[in-house]
Amino acid sequence: MEKLVPIIPIRDGIIFPSTDSVLTFGRPKSLAALESAFQHERIVCFALQKNSRLNDPGPEDLFEIGTLARIERMIRTDGEINAQVRGLSRVKVISYEKYDSYYVARVVELPEIVEETEEIKALCNHLTNEFRKAMNFGKSADFLLFMNIMSETSASELSDLIASALELKPLERQDLLEMTDVKKRLQTLTDLLAKEIKILELERRIASKTQERFEKGAREAMLRERLKTIEEELGEREEQSENKTLLNKIKAAKMPEEVEEKATKELAKLQNMNQYNPEAGYIRNYLDLLVSLPWDKESKDEAGIKAAEAILDKDHYGLQKAKERIIEYLAVYKLAGKMKGSILCFAGPPGVGKTSIGKSIARALGRKFVRVSLGGIRDEAEIRGHRRTYVGALPGRIIQGIKDAGTKNPVFMLDEIDKVGSDFRGDPSSALLEALDPEQNDQFSDHYLEVPFDLSDVMFITTANVLDTIPHALRDRLEIIQFSGYTHDEKFKIGHDFLVQKQLENNGLTNHNVDLTDDALKFIIHHYTREAGVRNLERKIATIFRKVAKKVAEGEKKKVTVKATDVTKYLGPIKFQSTMIEKQDEVGMSTGLAWTEAGGEILFIEVALMPGRGQLILTGQLGDVMKESCQAAMSYIRAKATKLGLPEKFYQKIDVHVHVPEGAVPKDGPSAGGAITTAIVSALTKIPVHRKIGMTGEVTLRGRIMEIGGVKEKVIAAHRAGLKTIILPKDNQKDLEDVPKEVLKDLKFHFVSHMDEVLELALTKPLPKAKTKTKTKIKVKETKILKPIVTPLQIHATKPN
Ligand code: ADP
Repeated sequence: MEKLVPIIPIRDGIIFPSTDSVLTFGRPKSLAALESAFQHERIVCFALQKNSRLNDPGPEDLFEIGTLARIERMIRTDGEINAQVRGLSRVKVISYEKYDSYYVARVVELPEIVEETEEIKALCNHLTNEFRKAMNFGKSADFLLFMNIMSETSASELSDLIASALELKPLERQDLLEMTDVKKRLQTLTDLLAKEIKILELERRIASKTQERFEKGAREAMLRERLKTIEEELGEREEQSENKTLLNKIKAAKMPEEVEEKATKELAKLQNMNQYNPEAGYIRNYLDLLVSLPWDKESKDEAGIKAAEAILDKDHYGLQKAKERIIEYLAVYKLAGKMKGSILCFAGPPGVGKTSIGKSIARALGRKFVRVSLGGIRDEAEIRGHRRTYVGALPGRIIQGIKDAGTKNPVFMLDEIDKVGSDFRGDPSSALLEALDPEQNDQFSDHYLEVPFDLSDVMFITTANVLDTIPHALRDRLEIIQFSGYTHDEKFKIGHDFLVQKQLENNGLTNHNVDLTDDALKFIIHHYTREAGVRNLERKIATIFRKVAKKVAEGEKKKVTVKATDVTKYLGPIKFQSTMIEKQDEVGMSTGLAWTEAGGEILFIEVALMPGRGQLILTGQLGDVMKESCQAAMSYIRAKATKLGLPEKFYQKIDVHVHVPEGAVPKDGPSAGGAITTAIVSALTKIPVHRKIGMTGEVTLRGRIMEIGGVKEKVIAAHRAGLKTIILPKDNQKDLEDVPKEVLKDLKFHFVSHMDEVLELALTKPLPKAKTKTKTKIKVKETKILKPIVTPLQIHATKPN
């Protein structure tokens, strides 16, 4: 049935038959069409625009198939009409008939293809169920529409109701409108609904997850907020008071102006910082250091020079020379007011009282004493600190020492300055120099501290065991005071007058509890220690007193007397025989004198000959210089073979093995040259060496005996070991001045300038007369000579040792 009806274009919505909708119209043509239709049959046709953006579409811009609808009600507002319309049927525009203020077209109703089959019913049931499901998943739909869908309707109506309820694009809707086959429409709707349900499901899942996340986040945020409030309540007061104390401390520290400025700046930074920020901890540590450094605290010098002298004497036995030099140094210091010039360096073996003299100086000056060991330092940062940007950064040892001292003018002892190394991490000695140099240390900069610290009032004392390893630049600035080893007598006096008393106190004992007899003390010195200083002696005394203290404390005894015969009970079997020398004169063995970091020592040089091919075998951890001495000795002997009564080519069929016992102790230096040569000559000539003659001296290839160092230490060690005669280079005669008198009186000295003299003195028999014929006299098994091996001769350093 054809009809002439006004055509009203719609941009995107579609009115399906059997549905009710409320639409708002504003375009003039639509308003005119509605007004005119409302006056008559109230029937219009809605047609979808192909392009929704067109404002005034013509017939060609509209789809051919539209919906015939009835206007149920109309409400006019200014310029707009709200109309409730009911879809009636699908129509097709056959032709546009006239155009006044709106289009009028001839339309014809499209017949629907409907079958009443089980399949259609099933499809309808499925659709309604699915629609319900969609609603359960949160699909929003007009409740009336939902009711209509759920109530029993025809398949065609159902399909249109559902189509109008789905979230579809305009073109999808148009497709559905154009579908006259109901079955096809139902199927299409099933697919579309399924898709929508899936989307709803997905949305719901996402929503619930988001919700969960949101809830969790919100909960955490809320808890954190609450925690913060609690912390603020509790902590703020603490933090505030802490910051206040810091501020007071900064004020009290009397820092130089720029330092105080820096400190207040850091404090301000700290105040603005959450206290859980790790940075806050670093700043606090830094400020703690700043306020605890003695910027303005110093000890007032008390003692005069006389009093200082008395204190040094009271604390230490002997050490006259050292004490004199120290007193001179202090006198200059008192007069000059500042420590300008050089820095004291106490050099000597361990245990000779370097540290304890340092402590006495501090006591004499009424100052604090601090001690920092530099042994093994290779990193400049150890002296000067790490920059604060490093994790775990610390100030260097100098600043730490000053902090420990608590005053800006302590006596500051830097131990083991000879053990400072340098490598890729920078040169600690240059940083040290800067700290020690009185000319520039009033502005000492530490990387951690960042602000300069004035070290010019500090009295630095360095200590060293040996001097050659101290970096040159540093050594130049040192005023060296030598401490040498003690003789047995000196050790006895130190033990008797100082160490015993000290250890009594340390162990809570008095003279009433224990009596360590003089013989016992001597026995300990002779049989339990072999050292230049008295450190082990002190330790042994301490061991005895500990054991005595136990007896006394347990009430076993009231007073314990320790005699020489009791010492083994306390200290175990004796460690050293009093003299280390052999019982009889031996062939191929001589006694040398050496000087090590631990003081003087005697060493035995053993030589053995074996059939061989002229090799020189060296064992006993000999250093390079000492090895070269052995080679030089060999060369000297070969050159002088005939003079020594040896066959000219004696070396071709033998190997010479030189060994210096106590192989675990490294030995070096050229001063054993004479002793080595003597031992080899003795082995070759079978003439024994006097066992009680000790010798020292470097030998040149021509047999000249050269000056060596460490005479005092060596002589004392020889005396300690029970030697009676000592052969020294002539040039060393002057050094005997330093040797204590009681040592000199027990010893006989020979001063020599040539190896011939040494051999004459040291060998028990004169050398055989020179032979001209080269008949082998050396009794070694004949072996085939392959090739004479001549040990390479190297030029060696002649550092004194
Ligand atoms: P160093 O620093 O030279 O290695 P120390 O100063 O530590 O040696 O001395 C070790 C111990 O020996 C200390 O208890 C010290 O008091 C004591 N001592 C060393 N020499 C003497 C001395 N001449 N008089 C008194 N005690 C001494």
